[in-house]
Amino acid sequence: MDTVKKDNNPAYSRTDKSKVNLSEEEWKKALSPEVYYIARQKGTERPGTSKFEKSEEVGTYYCAACGNPLFKSNAKFDSGCGWPSFYEPISKTSIIYTPDTTLGMARTETQCGRCKAHLGHVFEDGPPPTGLRYCINGVVLDFEKAQEAEKKYNDKKGE
Ligand SMILES: [Zn+2]
Repeated sequence: MDTVKKDNNPAYSRTDKSKVNLSEEEWKKALSPEVYYIARQKGTERPGTSKFEKSEEVGTYYCAACGNPLFKSNAKFDSGCGWPSFYEPISKTSIIYTPDTTLGMARTETQCGRCKAHLGHVFEDGPPPTGLRYCINGVVLDFEKAQEAEKKYNDKKGE
């Protein structure tokens, strides 16, 4: 199931680091309804529904809204919480952190550092070395296996 509509999405790039500023109307056109609901309306997917939750494939997880690299599979762990979980992002600027006090809880929201898509939350009950648990909605992740990414890179160089 591919929920990423890249053809209609002017923001999507895995190499462009510039910040994305689309209007809500443009986001609505660019994203599938599932991604829009979580990325722009701060929705939450039902626990246990993401194909990424138990995935152990080696590769990179990108923001499904803009293509920003967010997590490597080697920082992924099985937290049992019902959502894909990671203990650290690819870089400090991959993620934006915002205090979230909705639902009567003091939590820290995680957003994409490039397009500000809502990703999930980060909690302080993760494993070493960070002790953090990035609890991320799988719908807003776009995964690419390591060898496929390498192949594309090499193909591009040969052009
Ligand atoms: Zn993004």
